[in-house]
Amino acid sequence: MHIYKQLSEAYNNLTLSILGVIANAAVLFYIFFGHTNNTTLIIWGAFVLLISVFRYLTVLKYKAEKTLLYIDKWQKLLFIGIVLSALSWGITPFLFFVPGNYLYQMVLIVILAGLSAGSISTLAHIRLNIQLYLVVLIVPLIVELLLQKTAIHNDMAILVSLYLLLLLTVSKKFNQTYLDSITSHLMFEQKREEFLESEQKFKAIFKSVPIGILFYDTNLIIQEVNNSFVDFIAAPKDFLIGLDLEKSRDRSLMPTFKAALDGISGFYEGPYTTLYKQKDLWVSMSTSPLRNSDNEIIGAVGIIADITERMLIQLQIEHQANHDTLTDIPNRANLKQEIAKNIIRFQRHGVIFAIIFLDLDHFKNINDSLGHDVGDKLLVQTATRLKNTIRDEDMVARIGGDEFVILLPDLSADEFEAAKSAEIVSQKIHETFRTPFEIDGYKLNISSSLGITLINAQSQSEDALLKHADIAMYESKKDGRNTTRFYQESMDQWIKRRLEVENELKNAIKNNELRLVYQPVVEFATSKVIGMEALIRWKSQKLGDMYPDEFITIAEESGMILSIGEWVLQEAVSQFMIWQKQFAHTINLKKIAVNVSVHQFNAPNFLMQVENIIAQSGIVKEHLELELTESIIVKDISGVRAKMQQLRDLGVNLSIDDFGTGYSSLSYLKKLPFTTLKIDKSFTQDIGNDVDDKELISTIITIAENFNLEVVIEGVETYEQYAFVNERKATFMQGYFCSKPMEKESFEAMLESSNGICSIMTEAKEKI
Ligand code: C2E
Ligand code: CA
Ligand code: CA
Repeated sequence: MHIYKQLSEAYNNLTLSILGVIANAAVLFYIFFGHTNNTTLIIWGAFVLLISVFRYLTVLKYKAEKTLLYIDKWQKLLFIGIVLSALSWGITPFLFFVPGNYLYQMVLIVILAGLSAGSISTLAHIRLNIQLYLVVLIVPLIVELLLQKTAIHNDMAILVSLYLLLLLTVSKKFNQTYLDSITSHLMFEQKREEFLESEQKFKAIFKSVPIGILFYDTNLIIQEVNNSFVDFIAAPKDFLIGLDLEKSRDRSLMPTFKAALDGISGFYEGPYTTLYKQKDLWVSMSTSPLRNSDNEIIGAVGIIADITERMLIQLQIEHQANHDTLTDIPNRANLKQEIAKNIIRFQRHGVIFAIIFLDLDHFKNINDSLGHDVGDKLLVQTATRLKNTIRDEDMVARIGGDEFVILLPDLSADEFEAAKSAEIVSQKIHETFRTPFEIDGYKLNISSSLGITLINAQSQSEDALLKHADIAMYESKKDGRNTTRFYQESMDQWIKRRLEVENELKNAIKNNELRLVYQPVVEFATSKVIGMEALIRWKSQKLGDMYPDEFITIAEESGMILSIGEWVLQEAVSQFMIWQKQFAHTINLKKIAVNVSVHQFNAPNFLMQVENIIAQSGIVKEHLELELTESIIVKDISGVRAKMQQLRDLGVNLSIDDFGTGYSSLSYLKKLPFTTLKIDKSFTQDIGNDVDDKELISTIITIAENFNLEVVIEGVETYEQYAFVNERKATFMQGYFCSKPMEKESFEAMLESSNGICSIMTEAKEKI
C-alpha cells in the first residue's frame, strides 16, 4: 500500500526537481561558458536537457495513465531518471573542474551541494533513490578533490564526505518520518473508509430490514423510526416522531421501554394493540440502552417484530395437540394437564374438585348397526350437549371412543358440599340425555353411566383420579346403567343418605312426622322449673328416629328450615300456653325457649312470623325466648343488630346459644341486644377433667352478670358439675342432671308430680 503513495508523491515532486536541475544547469552553463571546454559544456548541457525531457515525459505519462498497475515499471522509470540525472551531475567535477581556479571549483561544489540538499525534499520518498542519487552525485566530487592532492583539497574532500554522510543520515530520517506519516495517514484513511462503509451499511439496514426499529430519548419521546416500524404501527412517520411513548393506550410495552432507560435490556412477547389504528397484534419486542462516550444513557433503541402470524400458527398447532379432532373438545393430554393444575390448587388451598367419568350406554350397538358415521355424529352431539350443561370454568374432554370426562374445579373446601355439587351436575347430565338424539333421520335414545371421584389427600396423581372415576363409572354400569356412582363406597353411601334424608324431609311436615320434646330450665336459687327449651324430633317412616344434628343442616341447605322453623315456633308456643294455663296455680312458667336457625333469622318475613304467633297465641311477649347462635354474626353487623333490636322491640327475649364455641368475644356480643347467655355444654362437661374450664366459666359468668345478661348453664350432668355451678350462683341451668328432653306427655307428668321442683337439686343442696 505504501509504495503507491510513495510513487505518486515522488512523481508529483518530480517536475519541481526537474525544474531545479534545469535551473542549476543554466547557472552552471552561464558561469562556466568561456572558462572551460565549451564543446564539452554544450554536449553536457544537451545531455542534461535530454534527461530532463525524458524524466518529464515519464511524469506526463504517469499522470496520464494514473494507474496503480505496473508499479515496477514506474519505479524503474523513476529510478532510471534519477540515476541518469545523478550521473549527469556526478561527472561534472571531472568535466568542469578548472585546475587552480579555486573560485570555479567552489562554484561547482556549491552547486552540487545545493542540488544534493534540494534533492532530499524531492527524492527522499523512496530511500534507495535518494541515497543512490546522493552517492552518485557526491562521490565523484570527493574523488576529484582527492586527485588534486593539495592539503586544502584533502580537507575539502573530508568536509564533503562528512557532508555526504550528513545528507545520507538526514535523508534516512526524512524518509522514515515520511513513511510514518503515510502509515498513519493510510490508517486514518482506512478507518474513515471503514466507518463510512459501516455507517452506510447501517443506514441501509435501518431502512430496509423487515423489523421495526425505533430510537427514543430518556423522556420516552420517539426520535427516529425506520420504514418497517412505520408499516408495522400503520401510522405516518411524522405522527410517530416526537410522540411520547408514555401516551400509548396499550401499556403492555411500557416496562420494556423503561427497562432500557434503566440500563438493562427489556423484552416483551405478547399481545399489543397499535396506538394509531388499534390493530390487535402479537409482537416480540426488545430494547437496549444507548450510551454516550461518558457511558451515560441518552436513550434507547427498540426492535419490534410482528409475530402475529407465527403465533396464530402456533396457537393452531397447540390447539390441535390439545383437542380431539372429531369433537374439537379437549383431549386426554389436555385434561391431564388441567387435572394436574387442580391437584396443585387443592394441595395449596384445599379447594376440592371432582372428576366425572362418562361412558355412553350401548354405544357399540349404534356403531355396529347404524355405522360409524352415525356413531361419530352422536359423539359430536354428545360433546355439544355436555358443553352446554357445564359451567364455563368446567372442562369436558373426550379421552377415548365413547368416553368423556368432565372436570369440575373449585367446588368447595367442604367435602360434602363438593360431592353434592358434583352429584347435581351428574343429575343434569342424565337429564340432557333424556331428550333423544336426532341423527340422519334416526331418533336415538341414549343414556350414560357416570362415575364421580373427588380429590382427597390420598389420591394425588391425575392417573389415579381418572382410574377412580373409571372404576366408579364401571360400578354404575353394573348397577344397570343410566346412573351415577361415587368412587369411595363410604362417600357413595354418605351422599345417598344425605339425598335420602333430604327427600324424606320434604314430606315430614305434611305427614305429621315432626314433633317437639322439651327440656326443663331450672333456677339455681330455688330449684324451680321456670320453663323449657323446645327441641325437635323426627320419626321418619322410612328412616326411623332422626335427631336434629343430622337433619337440621340438611333442612338448612335445602331451604326447608323455613317452614320447619315456623312449625316449631307455632307448636312450641301453643304447647307452652296450654301448660301455662294448666299449671297456672301451682307453677310459675315464664320461659319457652325456641331454637332459631340463622337462615330463619335472615328470612325477610321472620319478624312478621314472630309477631303473628304472639298475636294469635296471646303469649306474654317476655316469655318467648329465641335462641340464636354466633353464626348470625356476619360482616354486616349493623343489619343484624337492627333486626335483633326490632325483635327486642316486640318484647321477646333473645339468647345466645352455645356460647364459647364460636369466635366472638363477650364484649363484641355486648354490642348486640341479647338478654340471655347460654354457656355451651362442652365447658360444663370439662368440669372434673384434668384440664377443666372452671376459671373460664367463672369469668364468663362474672362478665355476663356485669352486662346484665341472664346466664343459663347447659349440659349439667353430674353432681360435681352441679356443685361447681351452684357455688357460682349462676342463674339457671339445663341438663341431664335434672332431666333429659322429654316427650310432651312425660313433661306434663313430671310437672304434675314434682310440682315444678327439680327434686334431685334440692337433695343435692342438702348435701352441700
Ligand atoms: P342446643 O340448642 O344446644 O340444644 C341442646 C342439646 O343438648 C339438645 O340436643 C339436648 O338434648 C342436649 N342436652 C341437654 N342437656 C344435656 C346434657 O346434660 N348432656 C348432654 N350431653 N346433652 C344435653 P338435641 O335435642 O339433639 O339438639 C341438638 C341441636 O339441634 C340443638 O342444640 C339445636 O342447635 C338444634 N335444634 C334442636 N331443635 C331445633 C329446632 O327446633 N330448630 C333449630 N333450628 N335447631 C334445633
Ligand atoms: Ca338451644
Ligand atoms: Ca345449646
